[in-house]
Amino acid sequence: MTNEETGKPNNFIRNIIDADIASGKHGGRVATRFPPEPNGYLHIGHAKSICLNFGIAEDYKGTCNLRFDDTNPHKENVEFVEAIKKDVHWLGYDWGDRLFYASDYFERLYAYAVELIKKDKAYVCDLSPEQTREYRGTLTEPGKDSPFRTRSVEENLDLFARMRAGEFRDGEKILRAKIDMASSNMNLRDPAIYRIRHGVLHHQTGEAWCIYPMYDFTHCLSDAIEGITHSLCTLEFEDHRPLYDWFLDTLDVEHHPRQIEFSRLELEYTITSKRKLTQLVDEGHVEGWDDPRMPTLAGMRRRGYTPASIRDFCDRIGVTKSTNNVEMSVLENCVREDLNPCAPRRMAVLHPLKVVLENYPEAQCETLQAANHPQDESMGVRDLPFTRELYIDHEDFLEVAPNKKFKRLVTGGEVRLRNAYVIRCDEVIKDGDGEIIELRCSYDPDTLSKNPEGRKVKGVIHWVSAPHAVAAEIRLYDRLFNQPNPGSDREGGDFTDHLNPESLLTLTRCYLEPNLKQAVPGAFFQFEREGYFCADPDQSHGLPVFNRTVTLRDSWAKIEKKGG
Ligand code: ATP
Ligand code: MG
Repeated sequence: MTNEETGKPNNFIRNIIDADIASGKHGGRVATRFPPEPNGYLHIGHAKSICLNFGIAEDYKGTCNLRFDDTNPHKENVEFVEAIKKDVHWLGYDWGDRLFYASDYFERLYAYAVELIKKDKAYVCDLSPEQTREYRGTLTEPGKDSPFRTRSVEENLDLFARMRAGEFRDGEKILRAKIDMASSNMNLRDPAIYRIRHGVLHHQTGEAWCIYPMYDFTHCLSDAIEGITHSLCTLEFEDHRPLYDWFLDTLDVEHHPRQIEFSRLELEYTITSKRKLTQLVDEGHVEGWDDPRMPTLAGMRRRGYTPASIRDFCDRIGVTKSTNNVEMSVLENCVREDLNPCAPRRMAVLHPLKVVLENYPEAQCETLQAANHPQDESMGVRDLPFTRELYIDHEDFLEVAPNKKFKRLVTGGEVRLRNAYVIRCDEVIKDGDGEIIELRCSYDPDTLSKNPEGRKVKGVIHWVSAPHAVAAEIRLYDRLFNQPNPGSDREGGDFTDHLNPESLLTLTRCYLEPNLKQAVPGAFFQFEREGYFCADPDQSHGLPVFNRTVTLRDSWAKIEKKGG
């Protein structure tokens, strides 16, 4: 079901917003926010949230704030802040002048905490972390009141001011909401609202604070301060909603946003947990946050994913409250569909095998022309030098055809070189170990853009001219994990046990069409018969590097079916 006006898929959140607009709630205004914590890079799961929040703001002519949820200074830093901004922009969204930090509100949040104390709705508690856990009870047993719960308002005000002034050590005291230690919802059992953290330099506020507000307290109030109408978050916050509402009701704020939860995106064969992605980076399982195998936006960008393909993916997976486990093929099809109409075609030989055309004059070099796109003339043509010595792919030659389906080159057989002539293999040259190292062939000069006389040649293979070829490194990627759900922590063990040791295959001696020498980092191409590739910024080996974004077809689906 798509919305008639926006053309966007409807979902339960848009239905709620439609109803709120119809009833005049929030004056018909729509204001959302995307609230990342700057403790890592954004991943594909965040893209779902970004597309949802910014997409709704666009379609309803509302606003979407980018708000850094920066209340955990020891895990956060400016590198992450900058990376997140870059990724949101790259994805195609703009927060305009609405960039905020929860830390912008620290002074106001402190005042709200004081107000809670004055209303006898918060108290300073001296229980140790272990005692606090003990007093909290369990899912089946109620908790017990802290002995500090009955402190007077005056004493609480004094102690809280002294917490801020730095008189106490980390963990010595916390400020807690006074709600209900017997609540069936554990989140309402006098949750912490402020904790002490000495000796950390906050990336925005420096040394100004040694107490930091907790997420639940900060988030609802930041939403209220910014006039957010619909606060969209993932399902794990459903049980926190009563607390979200409790703070806003108890503090009597003017504006009360509505929290709505949707399910997290989980993508098969990868993980969408920042903590686990951090572990992959820190332990060196990948080369960094932008390793093309990572499900981070930075990694996907480097791999060759386009912003449009990711937005399309987010539209296709939809937004619901039910489990959102998505097959990788859905994502891969999105990038194929986006690249197919616009990726210039090129020829690249990944496993080179030398071919010498014995009837082609040694000094000769012809300039052939090839279309950049078979269906789109407007993309123009390119020059291809053709010479006596060529490279073809080793996989396109076999001494004897294994079956009738094999349409490539065999000894004594013919094949068409794409955009060029028909050749025949006359002789196979091997080294001392019996490895094929060269083919002696002949070409039919009468077959340039026309069929050979009196016979059919079915196979077409790609090639490059040996003296003109650009040597390059090509990186082929496979699933990062060899399990569909590596993040689900069953049977103990660590998710890194499921890393696919063959997730990266580096080919260091590939030959490309000469014009690929000028490819700028980020430029994408279809290497005919091999897939979509993207030029990598890495020049450290002195060779151009290309990453395979995705194969031309879904080879995985086939393998999985075969395997049962
Ligand atoms: P992680 O568990 O990976 O650390 P997080 O939810 O703590 O993720 P935040 O930076 O707080 O990371 O996330 C910012 C926003 O993105 C939140 O509103 C969060 O709900 C949403 N989000 C995070 N992961 C996903 C996901 N897999 N699918 C959909 N939305 C997500
Ligand atoms: Mg979070």
